[in-house]
Amino acid sequence: MKKQDALKKYFGYETFYPLQAEIIDHVLSGKNALVLMPTGGGKSLCFQIPALLMEVTAIVISPLIALMKDQVDALQANGIAAAFLNSTQTDEESTRIIGLCLQGGIKLLYLSPERLAAASTIGFLQKLRISLFAVDEAHCISSWGHDFRPDYMKLHALRNNFPDVPLIALTATADRAVRRDILRQLEIPEKYQFIASFDRPNLSLAVYSGRKRLEQILRFLARRKNQPGIIYCLSRKMTENMAAKLLDRGYRAAYYHAGMGNEERSKVQDAFIRDKIQIICATIAFGLGIDKSNIRWIIHYSLPKNIESYYQEIGRAGRDGAPADTVLFYSYADVKAHHDMIGDSSPERQELLLAKLERIKSYAEADICRRRILLSYFNEQPPGDCGNCDVCKNPPQRINGTIIAQKALSAIARTGGKINITTVVGILRGSHNKHIRENGYDQIKTFGAGRDITYNEWMDYIYQLLNSGFMDIAYDDGYTLKLNELSRKILRAQMDVLLTQPAELEKKFETIAALPHKQAAADGLFEQLRLLRKTLADEKNVPAYVVFSDKTLLEMASLRPRDAIEMLAVSGVGEHKLNLYGDTFLDEIRRYEN
Ligand code: ADP
Ligand code: ZN
Repeated sequence: MKKQDALKKYFGYETFYPLQAEIIDHVLSGKNALVLMPTGGGKSLCFQIPALLMEVTAIVISPLIALMKDQVDALQANGIAAAFLNSTQTDEESTRIIGLCLQGGIKLLYLSPERLAAASTIGFLQKLRISLFAVDEAHCISSWGHDFRPDYMKLHALRNNFPDVPLIALTATADRAVRRDILRQLEIPEKYQFIASFDRPNLSLAVYSGRKRLEQILRFLARRKNQPGIIYCLSRKMTENMAAKLLDRGYRAAYYHAGMGNEERSKVQDAFIRDKIQIICATIAFGLGIDKSNIRWIIHYSLPKNIESYYQEIGRAGRDGAPADTVLFYSYADVKAHHDMIGDSSPERQELLLAKLERIKSYAEADICRRRILLSYFNEQPPGDCGNCDVCKNPPQRINGTIIAQKALSAIARTGGKINITTVVGILRGSHNKHIRENGYDQIKTFGAGRDITYNEWMDYIYQLLNSGFMDIAYDDGYTLKLNELSRKILRAQMDVLLTQPAELEKKFETIAALPHKQAAADGLFEQLRLLRKTLADEKNVPAYVVFSDKTLLEMASLRPRDAIEMLAVSGVGEHKLNLYGDTFLDEIRRYEN
């Protein structure tokens, strides 16, 4: 069988993703490799297809024990003989698996690093005939990486004990230092590196002002009924609050953070994977290696600490290749919170952390295509603007904001730097509230000087002035606004200020998620197929995406296959799944059409 045929027969796909074909050929020729691909880039096929085309057994090392069962279920759902050995099994079960392997009945065997390090394992592997080693999440081998696993250092023993078996190491996150470490420890020649583009065009990117976040989030969710997603928060407390608010409003939400017990955490994770919970409010601890391909959106409640984390976190959405939306809320208060946290680290580290914070801050404030900024951060030069970020879809309208800025700054000057944002806006809008009257602010010259601008627009402008450094805010002094050097220059008319025309929130949300599959989703068939999928998945006790991915269902809903041949043409429908589910889904489509 050729690799192309295996792709179709087992996985139901027509064409390879970038680099997959090259990597598969390279591995089949018996050479080692290091593969760097973004999340969702299709790393698994790079070792699964060679494993299927080679005789005997391939060994996959993965640190994600919680996911092994699902990965193996997914392979079995495609008619592939796969199994795993890890600490979650009973002794009988692992003896049974070992027996199957020794009889040559297993094509892919997943092993946890602990299992590999166990004394008996090398002996067992030496009795097996092994086609290939695949080391998933290979960055865990490096102490420079963000997820170092001491057991991974022992992988070096594989090179000594099995010098002739090809080894493929795969990861989605590895900077130069980590890459060098992987190459050295696993003895992979430098020229055998495959580095895929980090572009994820199906992810929409948007950054919104951090005002009224809950309101914005609710509006966002109202358009995403039943679509699974994650809200990342900076603190444990925040995740709990957020989840409580969503539960109150009838959403199936839960929180997840490192302060919870293991059991509770895996319960939440499991419920999410199986679509029993729609929304997870989580700290960054959540999602490492979450193998849920149908996450449709990610919200960052606060600014992440650097672009690497941000990109990895949004990368968890849309791994099935169907459109997914990401939203980042940005406010100067988050920047301040990060500054404080960085202040606690050692002086040498501070410099690096501050530089990284500065990069994500400028990303959030950017008025050019956001994907350009992200990709250039990863040293890629995209050919043009992406058309799938908020800046591309809704180019900011720049206006001369000098007079606006002067009005606000003058109000701050005339009140002696004692007022906060709401009071400044109150004064500018000529509001007669108690605080303003009692302090005599209704007597100053700027009172009412900005009535022509709405409350919301004023808030937006003030945030922009803050974010651009045209005024300061004293967090330690009741969040009062203060003038700085730039403010004085503006007041003296020595410099001009450009501001962005505030877009109405409604309008902004119109522009995100102009999903191409809206049609299919809207006409209800997709929803029907999704229900059917859930029933079938529950019967087998596997996650829904193991049956079919969202992308496959969307394609089914729009192509509406009428028979087995047409069904096979749907991406993600291989022979095995056609046999298992083809008729059931064809019936459902027929029923829908009548
Ligand atoms: P990674 O491990 O790199 O994050 P996966 O291997 O889990 O990515 O693949 C992500 C998703 O893309 C999976 O649902 C997988 O089935 C799908 N996929 C992989 N390769 C292809 C392909 N050539 N065509 C269509 N879908 C693919
Ligand atoms: Zn763009």
